[in-house]
Parts: sequence; C-alpha cells; structure tokens
Amino acid sequence: MSAPQRREAADCSETLHRIHEYLDGEMTAEDTLRIAQHIEQCAPCLAQHDLDHAIKDLVRRSCQCEEAPAELRMTILQRITSIEVRWSD
Ligand SMILES: [Zn+2]
Repeated sequence: MSAPQRREAADCSETLHRIHEYLDGEMTAEDTLRIAQHIEQCAPCLAQHDLDHAIKDLVRRSCQCEEAPAELRMTILQRITSIEVRWSD
C-alpha cells in the first residue's frame, strides 16, 4: 500500500497561518480535519485558536455583523499584545 498520506496533521506554522480560515469555515473538510488534529495535540496552537475564537465572538457581538473589519480585529489584537508585553518596560 502506498496511498499518499494526505491526512497527516498540519504543523504549527500552517495552523497559525490558516487559523482564521479554520475559524471562518473557509477550508475544505480535509484541511479542517488536519488543523483540528493539530490543535488537539498542540497547546500553543490551541491557545491561539481559543484567543482568536474569543476575539471573533467578541467582535461579532459588539458590531452584530458576520465579518469583523480587518482594522478592528487588528486593533483588538494590538491591544491584547500590548498588555502581554508590558513587563518589558
Ligand atoms: Zn502547533
């Protein structure tokens, strides 16, 4: 048997790169499964997934729209990042 192993789980860079596609349901079923498999096994990617999911949820609730404007998403992300890096000063 030499079937191509296309079901192999994604790696960290692919998962983080495509997390928004995953959350938005814009992937094929196969890719969704590969990302889901990786997130299950990888705590940092799970944390990123949870964070992005929370942001998406927050944005959706506050503006009542399906898609968050990219600028608003960036503003929220920057705010979170600035909180996390405060220790450096
Ligand atoms: Zn990972």
